[in-house]
Amino acid sequence: MKRVVVVGGGITGLATALHLRDRAGEVPEGLEVVVMEAAERPGGNVQTDRVDGFTIERGPNGFLDNVPATLDLVRRLGLEGSTQQADQSAARRFLFRHGRLHLLPSGPVGFLRNPVLSMRGRLRVFGEPFARRRPPGVDESVFDFASRRIGEEAAAVLVDAMVSGVFAGNVHELSLRSAFPKMAQMEEEHGGLVRAMVAKLASRRSARKEARTRAARGEDVAQLTQPGGPAGPGGTLTSFRNGLDVLVDGLAREVGESLRLRSPVTGVQKSSAPKGPSGSGDPVGGGLRAEVEPKVWAVQLASGEVVDADVVVVAVPSPSAARLMEPMDPVLGLEVGGIETAGLAVVALGYREEDLDEVHGFGFLVPRGTGPRILGCLWDSSIFPGRAPAGHVLLRAMIGGAHAPSAVGQETAELLDVVRQDLDTTMGIRAEPVRSLVYRWPNGIAQYRIGHQARLDRIHARLREHPGLWVAGSSFYGISMNACFEKAPSQAGEILAYIRR
Ligand SMILES: Cc1cc2nc3c(=O)[nH]c(=O)nc-3n(C[C@H](O)[C@H](O)[C@H](O)COP(=O)(O)OP(=O)(O)OC[C@H]3O[C@@H](n4cnc5c(N)ncnc54)[C@H](O)[C@@H]3O)c2cc1C
Repeated sequence: MKRVVVVGGGITGLATALHLRDRAGEVPEGLEVVVMEAAERPGGNVQTDRVDGFTIERGPNGFLDNVPATLDLVRRLGLEGSTQQADQSAARRFLFRHGRLHLLPSGPVGFLRNPVLSMRGRLRVFGEPFARRRPPGVDESVFDFASRRIGEEAAAVLVDAMVSGVFAGNVHELSLRSAFPKMAQMEEEHGGLVRAMVAKLASRRSARKEARTRAARGEDVAQLTQPGGPAGPGGTLTSFRNGLDVLVDGLAREVGESLRLRSPVTGVQKSSAPKGPSGSGDPVGGGLRAEVEPKVWAVQLASGEVVDADVVVVAVPSPSAARLMEPMDPVLGLEVGGIETAGLAVVALGYREEDLDEVHGFGFLVPRGTGPRILGCLWDSSIFPGRAPAGHVLLRAMIGGAHAPSAVGQETAELLDVVRQDLDTTMGIRAEPVRSLVYRWPNGIAQYRIGHQARLDRIHARLREHPGLWVAGSSFYGISMNACFEKAPSQAGEILAYIRR
């Protein structure tokens, strides 16, 4: 029997375990998959609380429904009937500047009329097709890319805010190629963003034509027309009616008793001497299991237990991953630990509807240097109706990130004070919330700084020295839930190929 130990029961670890279990039949000796999760609940960043009629996400808000791997997983878990797409009002997005919120325009004419940028700044954005090209061989920052293509003001206001919203990051430090690979690709393939969008529209038009022709011939065109498919709609923000942890529950249910909660791992080592019967017995519980085959890896748990494994997948944030691997390979530990994370806090506030002006939209972002300390605020009960009890509104503000790392450690009362002051400045809210909750994420979001890809290459080179060891998850291969779900099946495939070899 081959054994894979996955360290970390976040969505990456759970999805990888599920794919491995689904394909266990490909391993002639049999395959056992164990997930070690430190916390009491699985899901990592994806956690939902239900308090006094509010459905509150501790972390992510949702995912775009344009990635086949995520949609396949939702179907695999039988959850397609439980999803909830964002309300149409979520198209209304705001940005704080010059002391007030501006509704962001949806088209070029609206953009030209919108005072969120100076007239000069707006006109410069229209010069995008004529921007100079990226100097060859440079891992450019997001700011340098944006200011080169759409001008410094748009980079400092619009792109800075977007980077705060996605990465809680510093626009000057993040690598465009690693943090926003699609944008880098658009420039590389089409010479610019506008040209790439025009090309995309043209190819979508011809794909739709092809889909109509094939449908008329009675062929199945679902692949073409599904969200994110060549003839399909773009992505819509999606969650579940009862909150995102419905997905985690579904994953945990399928992974079943192989998921061990409250099982922090303290180290990953090569087994000192290949041995016969495993010292640890059956990691899922239930007595010793005779093993004749030596295992290469030893996974140490805080309890003192050691679980042997043929493969270890380290699916935890980079600082924890570094600590686990550093004693075995200090260079690997150093490289992995070099991927920094930005801590942030999520402050959820429930209000009586009558105490607020109408809250209708997605929420707003705050470019750095404009006053408020919050990165932005999501209007959760407008995005996903049903998240607040009747007559109430649920807002979630984010604070901290790469610009203000200390915020995550601030006292609850202090954080609430800052957020309430900022909601007064931005939305004019002075009322007392009926509910307030603060969630802290010390390792919140990985920062793909300049040099991230080169670092990943060095990590991969190092991992080749340690056959059977994988790193996985949002610290490495994309920070979105979609990126985690997209990578899981291919990593499971690599692991199975390795085991069969
Ligand atoms: C506030 C916030 C908002 C976000 N919003 C969005 C969003 O709207 N949309 C989106 O797509 N993405 C969003 N993200 C990102 C997304 O949540 C993550 O990329 C994704 O959940 C990462 O999953 P993961 O499994 O790779 O890592 P994690 O969720 O970090 O899971 C790692 C797991 O490993 C466990 N662990 C750690 N150390 C050990 C150890 N030594 N032993 C055993 N277990 C251990 C942890 O307890 C955790 O459960 C957001 C993230 C945050 C923090």
